[in-house]
Amino acid sequence: MLVIVGARPQFIKAAALHRALKDRPEWEVRWLHTGQHHDGALSDQFFHELGLPVPHVRLHPDTSSREKRLGDMMDGIRADIEGHPPRWVMVFGDTDSTLAGAWAAAAVGVPIVHVEAGLRSHDWGMPEEVNRVLCDRMSSVLICPTDAAVQHLGAEGIVDSDPTHRPSPVHPRVLRMGDVMHDNALHFGSTFPLDQASKGPVLLTMHRPSNVDDGPRLLSWLDAIEDWLTSRQLEVIWPVHPRTAQALDLHRPDWRKELGNRGWKLEEPLGYLNLLKCIHAAPLVLTDSGGVQKESFSLGTRCVVLRDSTEWTEQVDRGQSVLASGPTELSSLADEMLGKGGHVPDDLYGNGLAAVELVDALEHMAVHHG
Ligand code: UDP
Repeated sequence: MLVIVGARPQFIKAAALHRALKDRPEWEVRWLHTGQHHDGALSDQFFHELGLPVPHVRLHPDTSSREKRLGDMMDGIRADIEGHPPRWVMVFGDTDSTLAGAWAAAAVGVPIVHVEAGLRSHDWGMPEEVNRVLCDRMSSVLICPTDAAVQHLGAEGIVDSDPTHRPSPVHPRVLRMGDVMHDNALHFGSTFPLDQASKGPVLLTMHRPSNVDDGPRLLSWLDAIEDWLTSRQLEVIWPVHPRTAQALDLHRPDWRKELGNRGWKLEEPLGYLNLLKCIHAAPLVLTDSGGVQKESFSLGTRCVVLRDSTEWTEQVDRGQSVLASGPTELSSLADEMLGKGGHVPDDLYGNGLAAVELVDALEHMAVHHG
């Protein structure tokens, strides 16, 4: 099997798979890093921390435009598939690395396993939404983390096929399993001391283009968050994504000093365990990240999602998270969520064994279809 990773959330998702494969030496797994995230803070530290293998291949795409990067990734992945034909190509989530991996595999007719299939925000303006839809359509095995994901696929005509068929985009397998990020959060979070829950600062993460590429909008978010923190006398920790730091350097050059003077704890992107500890210790999470949303659910912390849509709607239905579509809504929604206290997670995302179930399912298919 060829496993494609390239962006921060994918290293984390792949870690659950890597653990599940640890005791199965019969699996031959080749790892390809697309080079989408290439700096230490967003890439290398996760390989060390999560014990991921050194990738067999590391691409160095041209990053001067999204199109060039995508093209180079497709080209490099295709060349690797042709050189080392795998039984499966596995891709995770919704990034350009996911799309590049799926396209390359489809081009040479290798079945795609898409982990985190069926997610939809119904916001066609998000590059991730386009990637998800295209990747799902090309996939042979679609691993859905929620019932809603299965329903979205059904609405698009992608339904589970009779297992006697060899999985293909014409006869796809659509399998509802848990979520691999939830696997990780339970695996690592089980050691966190319960008495630390809610005792730390509020956690903020923000990196979506719709929030940070528009300077005035980004600054209004920060002002709204500052007002709310002051009104509640709360502290905040903010691991600042490089994209966001770049936007702030442009629109408010003194931002580090200004926010530092107001007591904001500004950090470089954190390692995974530190990030999970911050979520666990936070009285509230403010984020536009899909992964951090889910981890807040798994670790029992309420969350305000700094977006007007989410793929993780079941968390909103359960009252664990709420959508804030703009800065003016922040204060009242954050108050409401803070007032509810911690959240006791249920089995929405499974019981921590999604990756094991996934590997079992692929083994089962291999036995039946060779
Ligand atoms: N993450 C991290 N350090 C940080 C911020 C996030 O380890 O400073 C992890 C987080 O735990 C989550 C993943 O990165 O599992 C989410 O990645 P990101 O927010 O970049 O992408 P998204 O999930 O929105 O696609």
